Amino acid sequence: MKHKNCLNCGKTVTDTYCSGCGQKSDTHRITFKNFIFHDVLHGTFHIEKGILFTAKQALIRPGKAALDYISGKRKPYYNVFLLILLTIGLMLFLRHYYNEIIIEQGRGYINDTTQLNEASKKMDTIFSQKSKFVIFLFVPFAALNGFILFRRKKLNLSEHFIVAGMILLGILLFSTLGNVIFYLDFLVGFSSSIADVISLIITALIFLYIVYGYFNAFSEDYTKIGFAYRMLLFFAFIFIEMMLLLFIAVGFSTNWEFGEITISPFN
Ligand SMILES: [Zn+2]
Repeated sequence: MKHKNCLNCGKTVTDTYCSGCGQKSDTHRITFKNFIFHDVLHGTFHIEKGILFTAKQALIRPGKAALDYISGKRKPYYNVFLLILLTIGLMLFLRHYYNEIIIEQGRGYINDTTQLNEASKKMDTIFSQKSKFVIFLFVPFAALNGFILFRRKKLNLSEHFIVAGMILLGILLFSTLGNVIFYLDFLVGFSSSIADVISLIITALIFLYIVYGYFNAFSEDYTKIGFAYRMLLFFAFIFIEMMLLLFIAVGFSTNWEFGEITISPFN
């Protein structure tokens, strides 16, 4: 059923969607059948389609997907930064649940940080507890470095944020997958060396994926060598930026008296 006027804003409608507010012009009365099929199933399915599409794009062609989005192909994409938050939520849930089971099985231990000095404690906190939020820093740092190093596409800094956001989404999806793999531990019982190998493989995959993401977006603008040295600089810059920030954060919280620092970031 089509209406002459939009039921939402009152504007005269001539097409499938109202040109004033975007509501569909065939808004129907809510009956049981179209409530189930349209409002519940269809609505939910549409959100999931956007999430699944964006997640899949981030995994298989993050660079090209970001460029598509930047150039205006936006309808099929779910908001990347919202999806990053959702993925972090899922990761925290998986990790928390994993730790709960570990402790329940009596295999867990609680880090003893009482022996550490102030600076070390801060480092420990930043590395372990805040690591989920530190990961967000990848976006501004990667965006800035991408903006400095990959200039030929003439993307602005904000557009480089989209590229970095898409790649962070992929990183988080891989990490989530990594968390899921660790759940197999409860079925087959990993030895600590197997667990280390798995962590190492996941970390290596994430590094390769970052390279792939930028290759996917910018490879056609540079020679292979030109791309390779840009990528090396990219990681070097990220490392320097992280160290600088850490230096400032620890310095600030210890009144610039660092003292002896011992860290155990992988506990
Ligand atoms: Zn309207």
